[in-house]
Amino acid sequence: MASLDMDHPDGPKFVADPLEIPRLKCGAMEGLKPFVAAPEHQEKLDFPGELVPDWKERALAKMKDLGEKNRAFQVYLDTCVKCGACTDKCHYFLGTGDPKNMPVARQDLLRSVYRRYFTFAGKYFPWLVGARDLTEEVLQEWYSYYHQCSECRRCSVFCPYGIDTAEITMAARDILAHVGIGQKYSNEIIGKVKDIGNNLGLNPKALGATLEDLEEDIEDDTGISVRIPLDEKGADIMLVTPSADFFAEPHIEGLIGYAKVFHEAGVSWTVSSYASEAANFGLFIGNYEQMRDVSLRIRQAAIDLGVKRIIFGECGHAWRVGYSFLNTLAGPFDFLDQNFPIPQHIMEFTWNEIQKGTLNLDKSRNDHIRLTYHDSCNVARASRMGDTPGDQFEIPRNVIRAVCNNYFDMPRETTHESTLCCGGGGGLLTDDLMDLRRKGASPRMTAMAQVREDHGVTHLAAICAICKTQFSKILPEHGYEMDSIVSVHQLVSNAIILTGQETDSEVTEDEAA
Ligand code: SF4
Ligand code: SF4
Repeated sequence: MASLDMDHPDGPKFVADPLEIPRLKCGAMEGLKPFVAAPEHQEKLDFPGELVPDWKERALAKMKDLGEKNRAFQVYLDTCVKCGACTDKCHYFLGTGDPKNMPVARQDLLRSVYRRYFTFAGKYFPWLVGARDLTEEVLQEWYSYYHQCSECRRCSVFCPYGIDTAEITMAARDILAHVGIGQKYSNEIIGKVKDIGNNLGLNPKALGATLEDLEEDIEDDTGISVRIPLDEKGADIMLVTPSADFFAEPHIEGLIGYAKVFHEAGVSWTVSSYASEAANFGLFIGNYEQMRDVSLRIRQAAIDLGVKRIIFGECGHAWRVGYSFLNTLAGPFDFLDQNFPIPQHIMEFTWNEIQKGTLNLDKSRNDHIRLTYHDSCNVARASRMGDTPGDQFEIPRNVIRAVCNNYFDMPRETTHESTLCCGGGGGLLTDDLMDLRRKGASPRMTAMAQVREDHGVTHLAAICAICKTQFSKILPEHGYEMDSIVSVHQLVSNAIILTGQETDSEVTEDEAA
């Protein structure tokens, strides 16, 4: 419900509530599905090209296998007490009103089948425990509603048992891919990473040319030669960053920011053409082997280049895989310098440099921006950074405050660990799900409208490539400019005065003289 804000500076006023519980709309999103992967996209990942004749046996065998290998998955299926605490915590439920988008209902789509085949009560008294047979109709329902979950983990924050719907979604997608129903968007992208090294299919020559162009742009803007090295053997640091950073706004501006920070810090660094992708869509499809294959490219590139450190650029789910699983998937990384985090986040690196006083920053260069910050789900709830709990919230804000005068947080119940997903995460950033993406983004847009109303906020910063891409579509639909979504390192880039760079005021003084 909208509420009356008695403390508003302009007097009492009605404000929309981003977490308002919607009217139930049963079946509102029924049948909404992303495109199914073509046989060639499936087979490249060693999945069957299409629905196999013995799909039921294979699906149940895979479910059993996942339960044995991932104890958390089985515990989540066994534990729910239907307390209801999670029901209104999903942005897709808030945005669509479809009760099957309540996290507990989403879980039950799979739990009901698990009970039927793997529990005593479900085998003999299915009607008593809500158990149901696995049918083709059920498979299709899974395909639909498990692609209406961005694996954001918001619901798990509110569950007294910590049940993680994201894990159940991942398991469902893994089962589906194993019987021949994979998702086109994610599987096609994983195939490109395996063939070429990045989601875009950008080959090393094209990547090299792109980076040279960016170096020229920086020199034109600043008069200073700042390098963005590619495949430089013996560099200290390998930057692994989402490939969006190489080609699209506002991502590119973030890459320019990293380059300026490395330049001023005086470190040697390089991008790898072999591991030219931080994103790891193996996470989205819940498949260990794919996640491992993509991670091993990073290890191989680090060995081949002889680097001492690995730093990740601004990418939420890549950081989730990097921080939480890289060592398990592709370690040990005993050949790297153990004095630094393995891997390290670019925000940690930049914040260290700011604290050391290495960077000459002029905050007023961002005075045209009134900013708020979107905590990306995978950074907020599925990883950490820094040395103390909660640093994943504070370090980005510390950096922002160091480079920007006008910063305002959105309502606390929509930030930090309670952050709302952008609506496009978890493998849903595809045009065939645009309707869902719009609806899923609506709670975040309502929260942002509050700081626009109260503080005249004009821009939104994020440290996730998916969030940035999603918001560049969504923000203009809510009356913001196209360039309202910014990389945090874009703000850093704006504020940095490079060593030897003439500032605008110096140029003006020289011209006046
Ligand atoms: S993980 Fe996120 S998207 Fe999935 S059900 Fe929970 S809140 Fe919704
Ligand atoms: S909050 Fe947890 S225990 Fe309660 S209904 Fe949701 S998943 Fe089940």
